[in-house]
Order: sequence, then structure tokens, then C-alpha cells
Amino acid sequence: MTIDVLVIGAGMIGAACADALAAEGLAVTVIEREAIGSGATAAGMGHLVVMDDNPAELALTAYSVALWRQLVALDPKLHEYSCCGTLWIAADDEELAVAREKQRTLSEHGIACELLDAASLYAHEPQLRPGLRGGLRVGADAVVYPPKSAALLLARAQSRGAKLRSGQVSAVIEGGVLLADGSAIHAGKVLVANGSASLQLLPELPVRPKKGHIVITDRYPGTINHQLVELGYIKSAHAADGDSVAFNLQPRPTGQLLIGSSRQFDVTDKTVEPAILARMLAHAASFVPALTNLHVLRCWTGLRAASSDGLPLIGPHPSRPNVWLATGHEGLGITTSLATAQLLSAQIAGRQTEIPITPYLPARFEQLGKQYG
Ligand SMILES: Cc1cc2nc3c(=O)[nH]c(=O)nc-3n(C[C@H](O)[C@H](O)[C@H](O)COP(=O)(O)OP(=O)(O)OC[C@H]3O[C@@H](n4cnc5c(N)ncnc54)[C@H](O)[C@@H]3O)c2cc1C
Repeated sequence: MTIDVLVIGAGMIGAACADALAAEGLAVTVIEREAIGSGATAAGMGHLVVMDDNPAELALTAYSVALWRQLVALDPKLHEYSCCGTLWIAADDEELAVAREKQRTLSEHGIACELLDAASLYAHEPQLRPGLRGGLRVGADAVVYPPKSAALLLARAQSRGAKLRSGQVSAVIEGGVLLADGSAIHAGKVLVANGSASLQLLPELPVRPKKGHIVITDRYPGTINHQLVELGYIKSAHAADGDSVAFNLQPRPTGQLLIGSSRQFDVTDKTVEPAILARMLAHAASFVPALTNLHVLRCWTGLRAASSDGLPLIGPHPSRPNVWLATGHEGLGITTSLATAQLLSAQIAGRQTEIPITPYLPARFEQLGKQYG
């Protein structure tokens, strides 16, 4: 059987791309070495959030969060989706100014949001510690359970004719891939969508692993109502190097709370590290003191694929013929998966993309222009 596109990886990105490519009528095969959605997709928080660090990030996240709404509207009960909104917390005047600026930017782009003074912040979230300055509420942000959504998208791709194969790709070669068992799969195009492991197949990629810790509690329904994120998060999450923690708290539809998160560059050992975990939990409890009384069920880590400019790589590899990329989504790959799939499939089908594609093209990285393979 001829394969038009072989997708490496059945995480959120590979599953969404397979679905969109199959919808184009292409013969798609997905190859996955472990379980569907078991990589960063299972480790992440699943916060669907419009981010505005730069215009390209805003365009991609806003487009994708809207696509999530459309997807869920097809069958509201199918995806474990909850539109809880994001509440950005301003601890001081400086952060309140950031909240104001964020409100201006988001409003200009048609994203509804409301600036909160301290009284309305506490009315929305009574468990927050006293003394905070206010916040920004973005009501249309949401959360999903990512491995379930990845499995659903892959199932839809399969209903559109896509095939799923189990196996580990050991190398990308001209016209296909080699597997760890020594066999080869030939395909018209190969889409590298295997998250932080994409670096193992294409060492020239400007992508670094960034480890993160997450904790989940027992069920405490009603403790918090929104995904809570500190505005200081913007400073710490984008620290160029070094370990950092930031307050990020999510109410799961089950009543459980997801507590995040940490960021460590170039750490690939997925062992839970008590020191960083303790730092992360202490920081979270400094925002919501009641967390110290809650029962923790489990903690784990995952590896984000961080590109050197913070934007994903979506499009053809500039110097490896017929190799395509959908990687480098860092801490936003669940949010941006559906937009990634649309931008990728439109390029492969030769159609105009819904938003300008240039900021996400792999060709923006000069180092990828050299000849490989
Ligand atoms: C702690 C943490 C919190 C996060 N929180 C959020 C959040 O709130 N919101 C958000 O939008 N994003 C979040 N993210 C980011 C998001 O989880 C990732 O960007 C996204 O899951 C990436 O999906 P992926 O499909 O590219 O990679 P992965 O999910 O890692 O999938 C890659 C797949 O490829 C397979 N694979 C790898 N190598 C091979 C090979 N050689 N052969 C065959 N198969 C292979 C793996 O088994 C895996 O299933 C978070 C990430 C972490 C770690």
C-alpha cells in the first residue's frame, strides 16, 4: 500500500495532524513506539490558553483555541473539555500593569477578558491568599484531558482511512524511515511529530528538552473555579536558562486539582525530583494556602520540546526532501495542536493557510538549510 504521509508519533500533535491529513484524502500511516498520547501529551496540564508574548504566538493560540471550541461543539460530551477560563493573578502594581497591557492586547484581537480589582478577584477565587492586587479573567480559555483527546483524534483519523502501526523509528532516510527492528517503511512524505524525541531523529533541530513536574490531588470540588496562573509566570517561564517554578493551578472536571509547574532545560531523566517538587508546591501554597491541607495522589514529570525562539516548527524541512516537521511546541502543544494540524495539512495540500504561516516555518532557522542525510 502506498503511504502519502507517514506520521512519526501519536501524541497530541501527531494525532491532530493525522486527522487533518486524512481529512484531505491522503493515505496516512501513524507510527508510535508506546501508547497513544503517552509522551508529553499525558504529562501536560491540558490548559487551552491564549498567550500573547508575541504576535505570532497570539495568532496561533487564538486560532487554535477557537478550533478547539469548534471541535468540542461537534459533540460536547466526547472530549473531557471544561470552559473554566483563565484567571491571571497580579500580585503587585507591576503585575497589574502587565494585566492591563494584556487586556489591551487581547481585546484588540477580539478575545473577551475583564480586568479584576482585588475585591472581584477574591469574589471569583476566595481561596487566594490575602494581599493580591487583582487579575485578568479570560473566560473562553478552557482545559481538556489531552491523552483522551489525542486518542479521539486518532480514532477519527482511522475512521478516515489512516492506519496506526506500532514500532520505533530509528532513522529518517530518503523516501521513508528505518525501524529499530531493521525494517523500513517507505512513504511519499515523513512528518516528524514525535515531540522532544524529534531531536534524536534530526539532531540539527533547534529544540531542547524542558522537563516539567505536575502534581494531582484527591477530589476537592469547588476549591477553585478557574485555571489560576500568576502573571509572574511570564517572567519565570521564559527565563532563558536555569530551573524555575511558577504557580499554575487547574480545577479538573473530576474535582481534582492539578498543580504545576516547573521548568528545567536539558534534563531528560524523567525521575521526580523532591527538591524541585517541594519548591513548586511551596510556591503554589503561597498563592492558595489551603493547598497545604490537601491530599496529593500522584506526581510525575514530562518533557516539553522547546524551540530556540519559543514558536513551533510547522512545515517542510528546508534541506531534507519530503521531510516535514510539527515539533517544538514547548508548553503550548495541546493548545496549538489543532492549529498546527490545519497549518500543516494546508501546506501539504497546497492551500492558503488561515493565518500567515511564515513565523512557524522551519526555514526561519538558518542551521536547517545545510544539507543532511
Ligand atoms: C509539565 C507539562 C505541562 C504542560 N502543560 C501544558 C498545558 O497546560 N497546555 C498546553 O497546551 N501544553 C502543555 N504542555 C505541552 C504539551 O503537553 C506538549 O507540547 C504536547 O503534548 C506535545 O505533543 P507531541 O505530540 O508533540 O509530543 P508527545 O506527546 O511527546 O508525543 C510524541 C510521541 O511520539 C512517540 N515517539 C517518540 N519517538 C518515537 C520514535 N522514534 N518512533 C515512534 N514513536 C516515537 C512517543 O512515544 C510519543 O507518544 C505541557 C507539557 C508538560 C511537560
